Amino acid sequence: MTTTPLTLDRRPGSAPDPSVDHEIQAIVAGSTLGATCNTDLAAAPWTFDARPGYGPGSSMGDVIPTGAPRQGELPAAYREASEPELAERIRAAKALLGNRVVVLGHFYQREEVIVHADYVGDSFQLANAAKAHPEAEAIVFCGVHFMAETADLLSGAEQAVILPNLAAGCSMADMADIDQVEECWEQLADALGDLDTPDAEGLLPVIPVTYMNSSAAIKGFVGRHGGIVCTSSNARTVLEWAFARGRRVLFFPDQHLGRNSAKAMGVPLEQMPMWNPRKPFGGSTPEELADSRVILWHGFCSVHRRFTVDQIDQARAEHPGVRVIVHPECPMAVVDAADESGSTDYIRKAIEAATEPTTFAIGTEVNLVQRLAAAHPQHTIFCLDPVVCPCSTMYRIHPGYLAWVLEGLVAGEVRNRITVPADVAEPARVALERMLAAKPPAAPAAGWENAS
Ligand code: SF4
Repeated sequence: MTTTPLTLDRRPGSAPDPSVDHEIQAIVAGSTLGATCNTDLAAAPWTFDARPGYGPGSSMGDVIPTGAPRQGELPAAYREASEPELAERIRAAKALLGNRVVVLGHFYQREEVIVHADYVGDSFQLANAAKAHPEAEAIVFCGVHFMAETADLLSGAEQAVILPNLAAGCSMADMADIDQVEECWEQLADALGDLDTPDAEGLLPVIPVTYMNSSAAIKGFVGRHGGIVCTSSNARTVLEWAFARGRRVLFFPDQHLGRNSAKAMGVPLEQMPMWNPRKPFGGSTPEELADSRVILWHGFCSVHRRFTVDQIDQARAEHPGVRVIVHPECPMAVVDAADESGSTDYIRKAIEAATEPTTFAIGTEVNLVQRLAAAHPQHTIFCLDPVVCPCSTMYRIHPGYLAWVLEGLVAGEVRNRITVPADVAEPARVALERMLAAKPPAAPAAGWENAS
């Protein structure tokens, strides 16, 4: 891959390069100051496709499940093409396909891919964007595996949802394995009694709640057991829905979103035990489980776990008056030390709404932060983490894979289709529909609609 190393200039009034890849190439080549969490980030993603692992970046230390999907070898024509050549091939394939294809790009996706997306947004906004295009034969989801599954759940049966690189999983979603969750449910029944029978007040012992960032199998489990899906935007609404129906909540996979949301609702920390799937009763006593309000699955996002209170202190020391906004997947101490916390869409809107030049320190994935900095040169916007460390799995999608799947469609071949089996899809849709009923969804194209 040929890239042009560019030095980022984050001064107000400048027009910084939104490409994290360019910054990483420049840092590794020594042509600009800065640090990356792993110099392998400068290598092309296909370098890692044959190996089990999440690849370089924030999740590189996480244990990948043995059954995680692997990407086959990308043909040489795509590996050897330059960035401008790939961009031209993608544009040409999209022009030939017209409205037969919709390309979706997650907020955390690399810039070289985002420029080709018809819609840019969070996972739920993008799934709704897919739903809004029943005429498209194919939906190319430039995100991670669970997002493509969700798009498959919400799109038409004849539509093919494509993930350009099958190795683009999500380490947090992988932390809630369906077998471990089934085992947890059995142990909770041992501790709390029949989980399907309401008490005298009509409340069930446990309502399972899963974050959107989970596999379709987990969403199906939740749907089968009277539970519901949530996003980082509606977690409080969904928890209120669950508490209206149950004594307690089993929340997975992200302990931090669960803890931050429940704490903001006044649930005491001592009533939020952690469920470690490797320990009997998750590491709690049956009495502690009986006293609980929210049982937190032992999962986390390795991108958002990198943010610390020290980084916030440093930002405040170096930039008096800085506005610190972090994502609720960050640890509780970080959320408590920030000025605000909210979803990616909240962060984007907060910056767009600022009328005066403002300094923002943002605690979320660096690709989004860098893009926001480029889009709003009147503000100073920087990532709280000074070490450039993108989401390992999102970074596995490179323009080479996008060109490969699009040219496959032009040739009549569907590559890397993601399909959720019917027996999982049915209850998973029930869990999603409960969420939609708990709070109406945003308009289908609530993300950025690319002008290009
Ligand atoms: S940012 Fe975190 S939750 Fe999102 S895809 Fe990456 S690892 Fe998963």
